[in-house]
Amino acid sequence: MENYDLSFILNELGECRDQYFQAVSPPIVQTSNFAFRTVEEMRIRFQDEYGGYIYSRGLNPTVDILRKKLAALEETEDALVLNSGAAAIFLSVVPFVQQGDHVISVQQPYSWAQKLFNDILPRFGVQTSYVDARELSQIRDAIQSNTRLIYLESPNSWDFAIQDLEGVAKLAKSHNLLTVIDNSYCSPIFQKPSRWGIDLVLHSATKYLSGHSDTVAGVLCGRTELLRKVFNLEYLTAGNGIQPFNAWLLIRGLRTLPVRLERIQKTTMIIVECLKKHPKIESVLFPLDPEFPQFELARKQMSGACGLFSFVVKCRDPHRIELFCNKLRHILMAVSWGGHESLIIPRLAGIPLEQFNPEDSSHRLIRMYVGLEDADYLLSDLTQAMVHL
Ligand SMILES: *Cc1c(COP(=O)(O)O)cnc(C)c1O
Repeated sequence: MENYDLSFILNELGECRDQYFQAVSPPIVQTSNFAFRTVEEMRIRFQDEYGGYIYSRGLNPTVDILRKKLAALEETEDALVLNSGAAAIFLSVVPFVQQGDHVISVQQPYSWAQKLFNDILPRFGVQTSYVDARELSQIRDAIQSNTRLIYLESPNSWDFAIQDLEGVAKLAKSHNLLTVIDNSYCSPIFQKPSRWGIDLVLHSATKYLSGHSDTVAGVLCGRTELLRKVFNLEYLTAGNGIQPFNAWLLIRGLRTLPVRLERIQKTTMIIVECLKKHPKIESVLFPLDPEFPQFELARKQMSGACGLFSFVVKCRDPHRIELFCNKLRHILMAVSWGGHESLIIPRLAGIPLEQFNPEDSSHRLIRMYVGLEDADYLLSDLTQAMVHL
């Protein structure tokens, strides 16, 4: 495994322009199957599908360009690209557990990770314990003789809780456990979990990696030995690899990843500072805010933070909180994040109105994602809507 310059990874690595007319942008190899010249070639390939092309449910040349770039970005040996982040979550866990096993997970991981742990794995005799993984001791205390895997998400995409990646990796190694992290929030630009010893790194590539809100995709990075195991059974069986066109969109998105994140980080800092001072805002949660409870740990393992943060409004009237959201003119109300466009989701959208509890600050929480717009443009939109709070 080599360490490449970021510019080399994004502009050259994996690209073989001699093979396609010196085209700068790689071709979309839109084929389902690949032909062999001899039976012997076919026989060799059948013995090791992970080593070459047979059928695009397995490997595909456009996808392979992307795999090389993603593995290099995460500083892992290898990467697989899936047709969603949810598929990446599934493939980071299911291949590594069997009946009777136990998984330790952070509290409130991404919602579809919770479905996997709560509703699917128990059907196959695999139980999950959720722990407050901000404390290493909570993870240590949850380890049982049948524990196989520790599932992390750092920072969490709602409350930004962080885990000590170095500490968890050491603990896991001493008990022979596999560690998995959802690294979507930081992207490999701001956090490289493999440097701390985490085994498998997954992403919703729908978010920053693609960056334009025009495709759904997922990534799983790790040692070749682990990914080969995933590929040969669950990946090929579920058939949830990415399609060549979507892989091409991701290659295009990656070209501008560092530039987008730099810009988003700057704008986010400005907006966080303004909201912190705003009389109608009770608190702001952002991992690189010096007042964030785990700020020191965030600074140790993250070289930056992105456009996602949350704020709690002082207003206790749910109708006025709704009015604030409805009156935004430019910031869109939508799920997802990581694209060019700024977004909000109020927590109360997920709560039946009669259950809204004004005393519970989490009910007054609004998650915001800052996109590529100008800070002033976003601030004036927030300010005009805040008159309703
Ligand atoms: C969106 C998201 C996912 C799921 O990814 P999809 O591409 O939507 O399947 C997983 N983890 C986090 C943190 C996310 O935000």
